Amino acid sequence: MAQTIDDFRSELRTWLAEHLTPELKPDVLARLPEAERVGRLRAWQATLARDRWVGITWPREHGGRDASIAEQIVYTEEMTSAQAPPVVGSLGIGIAGPPLIAFGTAEQKQQFTHRILSAEDIWCFGFSEPGAGSDLASLRTTAVLDGDTFVVNGQKVWTTLAHHADWCMLLCRTNQDEKRAKGISCLLVDMKSPGVSVRPLRQMTGEAEFNEIFFENVRVPRQNLLGELNGGWPVAVAALQNERGILYVVEMRIQLQQARDQLLALAREHDAASDPVLRQSVAELNIQTEVFRMTCQRILDKLLRMGMPGPEASIIKLHWTDITQAMPLLGMKILGPRGLLYDAPEPRAGRVDPSQWLQRSYLASRAASIASGTSEIMRGIIAMQVLGLPRA
Ligand SMILES: Cc1cc2nc3c(=O)[nH]c(=O)nc-3n(C[C@H](O)[C@H](O)[C@H](O)COP(=O)(O)OP(=O)(O)OC[C@H]3O[C@@H](n4cnc5c(N)ncnc54)[C@H](O)[C@@H]3O)c2cc1C
Repeated sequence: MAQTIDDFRSELRTWLAEHLTPELKPDVLARLPEAERVGRLRAWQATLARDRWVGITWPREHGGRDASIAEQIVYTEEMTSAQAPPVVGSLGIGIAGPPLIAFGTAEQKQQFTHRILSAEDIWCFGFSEPGAGSDLASLRTTAVLDGDTFVVNGQKVWTTLAHHADWCMLLCRTNQDEKRAKGISCLLVDMKSPGVSVRPLRQMTGEAEFNEIFFENVRVPRQNLLGELNGGWPVAVAALQNERGILYVVEMRIQLQQARDQLLALAREHDAASDPVLRQSVAELNIQTEVFRMTCQRILDKLLRMGMPGPEASIIKLHWTDITQAMPLLGMKILGPRGLLYDAPEPRAGRVDPSQWLQRSYLASRAASIASGTSEIMRGIIAMQVLGLPRA
């Protein structure tokens, strides 16, 4: 008999109750040095993969569950509400896996897909460069064919998790004569190859989850070309579409509600209601969070009924960014001068004093309007593709 959505929820809840042990709680993980934390998260993901509780949208033959949209919504709700640890290989699962499955050769799928799910391989994305971010098609890293090997030279920047990554999905220029997107290919690069060097970039929070990657005469076998030669652009588009995918909507909705509850607790603790300006601001953000929740609900309802999310989906990243940045800013106002106290951890030590979570959130939130498409780019997309306004 087919499993109902309630059966699915209860199977997942039972599984989480058995496997989500105390050493996986967020406050325990937050106290670990980064290398140890990543090791524990890899082991957690391997457990998830063993029972097909990660990459659930992937086809069964590649280790997933072929999950329906309704199951994906329930999955995200349950995982987030149970405060399950983050999936350390989420870039591989969410961004590398789908184009690999769509464009990969049989050998590439065989080699990579199961190892992505089990976190035996962690992936990073070598897309952005110092001169190519929003305008990705202007990238300059080159790959030149020498017999059966590409020789790669260039630099990438802002590469999340490159320091833990085993593989990099790399965009590079393979045809200098073709302008912009037409001369770009996608290579799968072993991060242990001679000539690859990774340098940390320290963020405002003190942590260093990003890196620069330098490629100096790095030799990549031709069989590691993903998609066609000079046909890397559709691969990149498929990867980025997944990054901005609709199911992040559920995660964003729950995260914002949890952040709102923390803010309300802070406001009560500091008697923010006695200050009329703070009181107004707290009320306004609470309303914004509710509006966001309802918009998410509308999108998900349409997705379930019609298989399409509707135009509301294009505003979601922008709206989420505004609230994500406004909440910790308001928290800092409530804290007053104490908000200035922040002990930035050593890069890669990975330990922020838990009592300083708000200061960290405030500093980290600035990245929200840049990652996965800047707010200006998002406004451009809404103006042209949704509202049909002419290009200026
Ligand atoms: C948290 C985080 C994680 C990231 N992880 C990765 C990763 O793993 N791999 C990777 O490759 N990259 C990653 N990036 C990089 C990210 O994709 C780029 O930062 C982003 O695309 C913007 O590019 P840029 O920084 O070069 O800024 P630019 O594109 O140079 O933009 C500079 C400013 O100009 C504005 N601007 C640019 N073009 C336009 C336009 N057409 N109209 C209006 N305004 C415009 C932008 O909005 C911005 O304010 C990450 C970034 C962040 C913040």
